[in-house]
Amino acid sequence: MATPTLMDTYGERTLTLTRGEGNYVWDHQGRRYLDAISGIAVCGLGHCHPKVTEALQDQSNILLHVSNLYNIPAQQQLADRLAFVSGMDNVFFSNSGAEANEAAIKLARKLGSERGLATPQIVVMDGAFHGRTLATLTATGNEKVQRGFAPLPEGFLRVPFNDVAAIEQLASEHHSIVAILVEPVQGEGGIRVPDADYLPTLRTLCNRQNWLLILDEIQTGNGRSGKMFAYQHTGIVPDVLTTAKGLGNGVPIGACLARGKAARLFTTGSHGSTFGGNPLACRAGLAVLETLEREWLIERAEKLGEHLLQALRMRLTECPVVVEIRGLGLMIGIEINRPCGELVEKARAQGLLINVTAGNVLRLLPPLTLTDSECHQLIDAISTLIQQFAR
Ligand SMILES: *Cc1c(COP(=O)(O)O)cnc(C)c1O
Repeated sequence: MATPTLMDTYGERTLTLTRGEGNYVWDHQGRRYLDAISGIAVCGLGHCHPKVTEALQDQSNILLHVSNLYNIPAQQQLADRLAFVSGMDNVFFSNSGAEANEAAIKLARKLGSERGLATPQIVVMDGAFHGRTLATLTATGNEKVQRGFAPLPEGFLRVPFNDVAAIEQLASEHHSIVAILVEPVQGEGGIRVPDADYLPTLRTLCNRQNWLLILDEIQTGNGRSGKMFAYQHTGIVPDVLTTAKGLGNGVPIGACLARGKAARLFTTGSHGSTFGGNPLACRAGLAVLETLEREWLIERAEKLGEHLLQALRMRLTECPVVVEIRGLGLMIGIEINRPCGELVEKARAQGLLINVTAGNVLRLLPPLTLTDSECHQLIDAISTLIQQFAR
């Protein structure tokens, strides 16, 4: 039952999870669930990974927090590591995805201001999700997220996702565009994977127009796509990169990374955060990056993802309710020809946590630590669930 002292932002929540270990969580009655949603792409290493727990225990005995008035060694180390694995030059740390995107939006506007533009514009996509702060909900391409929150900030132009011609058209009509903000694979929008040449074409367009290419890798990042960052499936590098979710494996942390001219836009006093990049969060981030590498989890995400996609396509090829099965790495979406929210309950009754996004897309975001046998269980359970739904 909903607690009246909590604001009603999440609807009625009927499951109470009280413990997690590896790829499983347990409810308050001790029932076990295979977690194929990972706290929405957060716990990529599974729950309570010993390396993360150890880092948190260690750091909480040393120093939890100091202000950004001081040097924070773990913050510097995590910045070095992130820059190295991404090919970006520098980092600003936040506490969430939305805040990482706020930093990215501020970078684009700072560029606009340096160019003498009164209302610099950022190109954003239909079906995008960028967060719930005022600027990021405005960038989000979903009316439900925006309704009731007028006045929305200006400075965003919207086009269909995966449609380069629409952006070319905008470029010819507007002269105050400074950036494109896009997810390499739309997550909340329904695991929408663009054409292979989409990002490279956007890169070329941004070079030609002198715009920033800002990639929102809050969901796709940190190994989930089968590369550290999803753009690494292509040959390109963005100017600005945001990430969060999987970076702390459950500890709130976000990052906005920049390269080249974008890396020099913020100067002393441009931006800040009380908690952003604090010692505890950065130790978690360092433990995550180390573990991804040490346990070869990114390679595993790529391999498991290909297998899941192939097996689900094979098992569900004749299933009349399935519109499309798509994905990249361990982001899998199964589009159903009608709303399918009830599948979440049905899966739960069998001890499996999944999610439905955009109303009719069953979404799987399993931990990168999923074993082969859990992967087979997942394929069996999901195909049976959908076949039963089709009857
Ligand atoms: C989850 C998400 C966000 C928002 O992150 P929060 O931490 O909830 O603020 C932004 N962009 C994408 C692509 C996301 O998946």
